[in-house]
Amino acid sequence: MVDVSAILNALKDVSGQAENEFLALHEPCFKGNEWKYTKDCIDTGWVSSVGAYVDRFEKDFADYVGTKHAIAVVNGTSALHISLLLSRVNAKDEVLCPALTFVASANAISYTGATPHFVDSSTQTLAVCPKKLESYLEEIAELRNDGYCYNKQTGKRIAALVVVHILGHIAEMNALKHVVDRFNIRLVEDAAEALGSYRDGIHAGAFGNIAAFSFNGNKTITTGGGGMIVTDNAEMAAKAKHLTTTARVSNGYYFSHDQVGYNYRMPNINAALGCAQLEKLDEFLAIKRKLAVAYEEAFRHIETVNFIKEPKNCKSNYWLNGLYIEGGLDKVLKATNEANLMTRPLWDLMHTLPMYKSCPRAELTNAEKLSNHIINIPSGVNIHPEARRHA
Ligand SMILES: *Cc1c(COP(=O)(O)O)cnc(C)c1O
Repeated sequence: MVDVSAILNALKDVSGQAENEFLALHEPCFKGNEWKYTKDCIDTGWVSSVGAYVDRFEKDFADYVGTKHAIAVVNGTSALHISLLLSRVNAKDEVLCPALTFVASANAISYTGATPHFVDSSTQTLAVCPKKLESYLEEIAELRNDGYCYNKQTGKRIAALVVVHILGHIAEMNALKHVVDRFNIRLVEDAAEALGSYRDGIHAGAFGNIAAFSFNGNKTITTGGGGMIVTDNAEMAAKAKHLTTTARVSNGYYFSHDQVGYNYRMPNINAALGCAQLEKLDEFLAIKRKLAVAYEEAFRHIETVNFIKEPKNCKSNYWLNGLYIEGGLDKVLKATNEANLMTRPLWDLMHTLPMYKSCPRAELTNAEKLSNHIINIPSGVNIHPEARRHA
């Protein structure tokens, strides 16, 4: 049986939770230039969809991730939507996506009109398993004369794979790239949870053609709401900017629109927050790593509980720390939340949601196991005692 009180004590010890203090899963931390930069927007009137902070945030972000281009948008979901549209996904296609992910990954596929097709995860990385993906495609897919991959069962083209770096742990990108190249499937990285994570020294989002990040309030850095598209491809970057700014074309004082575009541009006031948060990112990552190390140590000796560590050859941001609990998940969730220590299970698997239950899917035993056994524990920068001292 799982030792609930040992888990409670470990969480209290590591966090130094005060009496009756509520510890959330991931709270934002504003201790840098956030106030100064947003006030500047208000003082100058540059709060909306044009402004110096948008340009600066895009440039600083591309530099950080190591891509040539970055396009700031209103949220991570819209970043994914545009990334899929630019990866030749259309309404008749299927797009592979892990069953174990946040609903936004599947929703963005649906916005294009395409059908999500759910695949299994690796118990090592939590992300799409390249081995299982390859043998699954060998079984159900074929390359046709037009050069594209088709689902033999549905007759639909399999246009792309959305790979998600779950909880900030990066998928096995080389092996996955090998599989998608073999089947001529485009790769889109959902790096929403992975800002500050690396595999083999390469930052999340810099592996494929195009990637999406999120700056929602619970992510590693936040702009209130926001997202970013990154790519090395100049043509894709130009199209991303065009599509996210209502496909506007201007000619002097005259302007028009040459296709159905989207109003997805990040406002300057949000980008101002982003610039200030990005200045703090390395500090956040260092504190989050200390917290992860402390958790790992604290849970080491509790039987039937495994702290989820970064995969081999990876440096993870530890966006949300996770525990794999052999049995008694509900008991742990109840006791921790009652003790003001916020914990949550992972997401419901996508194929169990009403709108996705008839989508094609692979066998999903690993995803089922992971979603039945993992909980997330308080993980924000504010949880580490060192950060609290400076509060
Ligand atoms: C947060 C998140 C998103 C979406 O980001 P929003 O900014 O909330 O739209 C997409 N995918 C994953 C895996 C996420 O965790």
